[in-house]
Amino acid sequence: PDNGGSLRSEVERALARHGLRQLVVTQPGEYRLLQAFERWQAEGLATLDVRPDSRFLCGPGEFASWAEGRKNLRMEYFYRHMRRRYSVLLDGDQPCGGQWNYDADNRKPPALHSAIPSPYRCRPDAITEEVLALVQSRFSEHPGDLQPFEFATTRTQALAVLKQFIEQRLGKFGDFQDAMIEGEPWMYHSHLSFYLNCGLLLPLECVRAAERAYREGSAPLNGVEGFIRQILGWREYVYGIYWHLMPAYAEQNYLAAKRDLPGFYWHGRTELNCLRQVISETLANAYAHHIQRLMIVGNFALLIGVEPKQLNQWFLQIYADAYEWVELPNVSGMVLYADGGYLASKPYAAGGAYINKMSNYCKNCRYQVSKKTGPQACPFNYLYWHFLASNRDKLQNNPRLGLAYKSYDRMAADKRETIQNDAEAFLANLQ
Ligand code: FAD
Ligand code: SF4
Repeated sequence: PDNGGSLRSEVERALARHGLRQLVVTQPGEYRLLQAFERWQAEGLATLDVRPDSRFLCGPGEFASWAEGRKNLRMEYFYRHMRRRYSVLLDGDQPCGGQWNYDADNRKPPALHSAIPSPYRCRPDAITEEVLALVQSRFSEHPGDLQPFEFATTRTQALAVLKQFIEQRLGKFGDFQDAMIEGEPWMYHSHLSFYLNCGLLLPLECVRAAERAYREGSAPLNGVEGFIRQILGWREYVYGIYWHLMPAYAEQNYLAAKRDLPGFYWHGRTELNCLRQVISETLANAYAHHIQRLMIVGNFALLIGVEPKQLNQWFLQIYADAYEWVELPNVSGMVLYADGGYLASKPYAAGGAYINKMSNYCKNCRYQVSKKTGPQACPFNYLYWHFLASNRDKLQNNPRLGLAYKSYDRMAADKRETIQNDAEAFLANLQ
């Protein structure tokens, strides 16, 4: 009841209570917090000892050494370095199967006939129930659903989630990594980010468990490599990029985007079925898988030009696995191209055809994905061209967008005008 209400005041009190002069901390997950610790030291509160964070395999110092002198910090090269460093999926010094990356095999559209195993569900224990009651009493006005609460909260439960993934989902993880099905928020993904990020699981034990499944013949190489790439590659890489580029990274806005985040991101009531599905599932589960985050909620925000800080705020508040070191590079770098292409070689912008190929959302939508303009047309279609036209000065020299600009320029002038008018009318009514 007499809590000082800030981290600093409580640390100060603990130091005084025990007569201590040294503060030992784990490398925090936010730049802001490390700055605060350093400020406290400068102000004479205590001497500071920052220890490495064992939730990661490559700390900020090691990443900086890897990055030094390199023109290009692409994830793929970092990932190969990590595979070699930890001897993962290697036969001798060569990658298993002869290739480092099987991404091209991991883009199958959804298979609607196959039954997807249910995710691991944990029953809350007495402590969790007590915390749920506290959250309900203090934060009942906040967005999202508290019930049912089925996350693991102990090490034993988190290990059971990992085991179930390896036995039941890893086999199809690769094939359907990018697929989305209405009413199937969990698909064949691992649902491990919550536990990796808070330290109930360690990255290398997840990587080794997947590799073991491949070596024993119970999971195919494309899925195992794809899963390992996410953890040993992407997760470590975005952690490195975050510490390498902060604090400037949080201020980037290469495309000068300034639109407010649409209100429906907080409740999901919109006629665009793909967004309605993903946002509703997000509010219910505090989870969406990667392609839902990147190509549905992220892609839409990119196309309409949402101001980066607002989208970052939303992602940080809405997902149970959100920590700034991972959320910021994914949102500002991967989704919004706010870093001007440091992380992604081109913006992940897509029209309705991509969503229709990778999901069944369009079947139940009031818009028609095949229509490019007019009141029935899928808004992603005209917004895509509007995005390219509006950002021509920044994007047209990107070699990976050359074909898209050529297609746009080849359209008849009146078609281009209709596209722009439809997009402007849609944007004017957005809020
Ligand atoms: P799986 O698909 O099973 O992947 C296995 C693991 O790989 C994940 O648990 C995660 O630890 C790691 N991983 C996969 N993709 C990434 C990635 N792009 N960056 C870093 N690690 C990755 N992940 C978070 O942990 N916290 C976030 O706040 C977060 N915000 C994101 C925001 C956007 C816009 C995007 C596009 C991605 C974000 N991600 C974030 C990455 C990814 O979407 C989640 O890690 C993943 O969806 C978690 O579900 P899963 O455990 O079932 O993952
Ligand atoms: Fe989304 Fe367009 Fe498909 Fe509707 S038609 S679900 S808006 S992609």
